Order: sequence, then C-alpha cells, then structure tokens
Amino acid sequence: MPSISEKSTRPHRHRKIQARVAVVGGGIAGMASAARLAASGCQVVLFEANDYLGGKLNDRHSAGFRFDCGPSLFTLPETLETLFRDCGKDLKDYLQYDKLDLITRYHYGKGNFVDAWADQEKLGVELYDKFNEDPDKVRKYFKRIKWIYNLTTPVFLQKSIHRRLELWSLSNFLRLFALPFAGVFRSLYELNRSAFDKERTAQLFSRVATYNGSDPYRAPGTLALINHVEYGLGTFYPKGGMIAIRDALQKLINDLGVEVRLSTKVDRFHVFQNRIIGVKVDGNRIPFDRVVSAVDIAYAKEYLFSRDLLEPKMKTSDLGMSAMVFHWGIKGTFPQLDLHNLFFSRKYRREFKSLAAKQIPQENTIYLYVSSKLNKSDAPEGHENWFVMVNMPCDQKHDWDKITEITRNAVLSRLSTDLSVNVEELIVDENVMTPLTFEKTTRSYAGALYGPHSNSVFSAFRRYPNKHPRIHGLYFCSGSVHPGGGIPICLHSAQIATRWLMDGLRKSKGKHRSHSSE
Ligand SMILES: Cc1cc2nc3c(=O)[nH]c(=O)nc-3n(C[C@H](O)[C@H](O)[C@H](O)COP(=O)(O)OP(=O)(O)OC[C@H]3O[C@@H](n4cnc5c(N)ncnc54)[C@H](O)[C@@H]3O)c2cc1C
Repeated sequence: MPSISEKSTRPHRHRKIQARVAVVGGGIAGMASAARLAASGCQVVLFEANDYLGGKLNDRHSAGFRFDCGPSLFTLPETLETLFRDCGKDLKDYLQYDKLDLITRYHYGKGNFVDAWADQEKLGVELYDKFNEDPDKVRKYFKRIKWIYNLTTPVFLQKSIHRRLELWSLSNFLRLFALPFAGVFRSLYELNRSAFDKERTAQLFSRVATYNGSDPYRAPGTLALINHVEYGLGTFYPKGGMIAIRDALQKLINDLGVEVRLSTKVDRFHVFQNRIIGVKVDGNRIPFDRVVSAVDIAYAKEYLFSRDLLEPKMKTSDLGMSAMVFHWGIKGTFPQLDLHNLFFSRKYRREFKSLAAKQIPQENTIYLYVSSKLNKSDAPEGHENWFVMVNMPCDQKHDWDKITEITRNAVLSRLSTDLSVNVEELIVDENVMTPLTFEKTTRSYAGALYGPHSNSVFSAFRRYPNKHPRIHGLYFCSGSVHPGGGIPICLHSAQIATRWLMDGLRKSKGKHRSHSSE
C-alpha cells in the first residue's frame, strides 16, 4: 500500500498514545480530523481510496493548462487558521492568500454587468447605478444578515446540534427562541425579495443557496448568512490557486505524523456488539479503537455498514444538487471576465423547478471561473482556463452523454452571444465532469456534491450527526453530514467530530481509572 508519510516527523512520539484511530477518506474533512487527532496524541491512519488526497479539492493538468476540479471560492480562512493553531502550527507557514476586492461579476448580456464588490458601500452604489436599487435597503440587509450570522453560527455551524452537552446551554436556548426572526419560515428568495425593491437584487443575493446544493426558492431564509460570509467577512484566493489549500493540509498531516494509505479503499466498518473495532480492507480486518468516517454519508450507508446493522439508506430525493463542469482551455483573453463570473438563466425559477424534479433545466445559470486571471501559470500566454459550471440534479440513471451534448451547445450559445464571440472556435483543450464523474472520483452517492439538501426548515436537524447514535466509537465528518458542505463548514465538521471523539476517550479513560482504583 503506498504511503506518502514515511519521512514524517512525529512530534508526539514522546507522548502516551491516546488511541489508535482510522480516518476513512482523505478529503478536506478527513485531513482536518486526522490532523486534529494526531495533534491530540492519537495514532492516526488515514485511508484514501484515490491515489491522491483532497477528494473534491483536486486539480487537473492538460495541454499547459491547470484546472480546478472542485472548489473555487475560498471563504472563512479563520477556520483554517484555527485548525493549524489547534495543531500547534501557524497557517502562514503553509498557505498565503489575498482578499478579493471584487467578489463576482454578474453578466446581463450585451456587455452589461454588475460588479459585486466586497466593499458594501461600493456595492450599494453599483446596485443603485445598475438596478436602481435603494442603497439604504442594501445597508439594512447587510445589517440584518450579520445578525442572522451571529445568531446562528455558534449553534448550527460550530457545535453539534445532536449532542445535548453542546446544544443545551442558556445562550443557545435564547438563540433558538430568536430563530423565527432569522428567516427560518421563509425561503431565501422570499426573504430577499421583501428586503429589496428590485427583483434582480433579490436574485443576486438568493443564488448563495446553491453553495450547499439547495434551492433558493425552498431553502430557508437563514441561508442569507452566506451573503454575510461573502460581503461581511470577505472572499479570498490562495496563492498558487485553490489546490494550495489541499497541499497545506497534506503537509500538515505529514508534519504531524499521520500515516496516509493511498489507493486503499475501506470496504466496511468492523463492528462487534455495537462497538467499532476497526475497518475491513481487502478482506483483512485492521483493528482500531475509534473510526472517523469522512466520506459521503449516503455512500457510507449504502456500502460501509454491514447489513445486520440495519442502517437506513438515504433517499435520492433527499440529496442536494450535483453539477456539470466543462474545463475549456481558451485561446485568447477576455478583459470583460473576472475571476468569478455568473450568467443567470432567464428562467431562474423554472431552472430550480426542474432540478427539484431531478430533471434537466431547459436553460442553465452559468458560473464561469477563470483562475488564470490571478494565477497566471494556470494557462499558457495568451490563453485562459475556463471552468464552466452549471447546476444539475444528482444522478437518477439519466443519459449523461446526451445531456452533456445538449448542455454544451446551450452553454456555448449563451456565452457566445453574451461575449460576442464564437467561443467554440477558441477551445483548444476540453474535458467535462458530470454527476457520474463526481460519484466515481469522490464516491459521492449519485454525484450529489453536498449530500442532503438544506431545502427545509428542519434540514439542519435532519443532517446526519457527527457520532453514530448506536455504534460506540464511530464518528462522522464531511460536507454531507452536520453542519454541511463547503471548505470551511467541512473544517467545522471535523472539529465537532474530533472534539466529541476526544471527549469520549477522556470519559472512558476516567471510568477505567475509577474502576481500577476501586
Ligand atoms: C464542482 C464543485 C465546486 C465546489 N465549489 C466550492 C466552493 O467554491 N467553495 C467551497 O468552499 N466548497 C465548494 N465545493 C464543496 C467542497 O468541495 C466540498 O464540500 C468539500 O471539498 C468536501 O470535502 P469532504 O472531505 O467532505 O469530502 P470529499 O472531498 O468528497 O472527500 C471524500 C474522500 O473520501 C474518499 N473515500 C470515499 N470512500 C472511501 C473508502 N471507502 N475508503 C477510502 N476512501 C474513501 C474519496 O475518494 C474522497 O477522496 C465544491 C465542490 C464541487 C464538487
């Protein structure tokens, strides 16, 4: 089994080993939990089915271009700073990043665009100039969503809502009472539509529901907090591109002495009398004291639990969206494009109706990300690397070859019209990722990018907890369990799961000591 950490330094070798822990899955959440556990004195083995780490945070090189395969937007870098600090390291030694002045450029055809500036006052002026939106309403909106963020984050993102010890504090109790004022009983779109005069402003601020695979017309208004994350706290870009985040985490776990086993798929959790006792790999049982599952939860339910454990399977109707991503190496440069660009479909509501019915939208909203705008080495001189993403339902035995052909033509036609150029003639390198690609490369069930959707008021409570309710010693983190998807949220997930695990270890050691002293 290939290992990438043979030469790693093991700073905790002198300490007594707390426990032997297996982490299954080497995405963001898996690497973060492996780092936390190793820093807390556990002996950690991380199993990754692919021959590389990072999961969805991965890239591809072709014909002189570099393309990101997953995340493109980097927010809440403090979650990474906290991780490194908690592991006794300084993020600055591993990763550098810059704050972006312009968050997204929204294109409305014939060369018209709206720049969503990070500076809220400047954005207010832009929305007034382009949409005739009332700047006072923009100001009020930002105030309100900051309040929603401060109200909900400590309960729903930083803690487990399935662990009595963490949920039932007095301050959380008061926060739960305030929830009805935080838009939980209205959709994100409804909340935004009532906040602004103009439909286009509401649409612009509703789009963020898709950041966790949800539907702006059904997801609760609380998700407006994502706009506070973007406009209140900022968006960033790592030096060297998004892949630099993966590389920083990989170096961290190496420095902390995590043993990484690449190309090693875990076949089953090994459970005996409702207690995890290890994992099964290639027919062999490998004993561990604790296991952290950092894989897609729907996949884990389907494949990693043995039948006798009666783990209920997840319904595809509960899963959130997937995507189709085209990687186009483009000859030429486009000054009218920025790093992040968006072209709304002209039938936005209908797009989400189709997606909800797991059908292919007639017209897609197009997200176009050009990392070579900042990271020049991502494309040859005089070229750009286009990452073109559209929302798709997760796979339900769709004919993806046919859908790819139809979508490719529609996207090319839209971009060609809006950019006044024949885009197809400029493509010199091409690749496509469909929901099946995401399922195959990251083992995300049906290609759903963020696990279950957050389209209901109760979604947060229904997400899978970070510890198995019955099996002792089995913990969960990933973008598909509590608190949800996206890089910073996965980092919270890892923190919650490992805190629970370490608390459990201390508790069982305490019990053990008091028994032996009796
Ligand atoms: C196209 C796209 C765009 C995105 N855009 C953004 C964005 O702009 N900003 C943002 O913050 N987030 C974004 N995300 C979401 C973000 O990438 C994910 O939420 C996050 O990377 C998920 O990390 P994870 O650790 O939960 O899981 P994954 O990255 O899915 O990793 C799981 C790993 O587990 C491995 N595995 C599975 N089963 C086994 C097994 N049995 N044995 C061993 N290993 C196994 C898999 O091979 C995989 O490597 C995007 C995702 C995609 C796909």
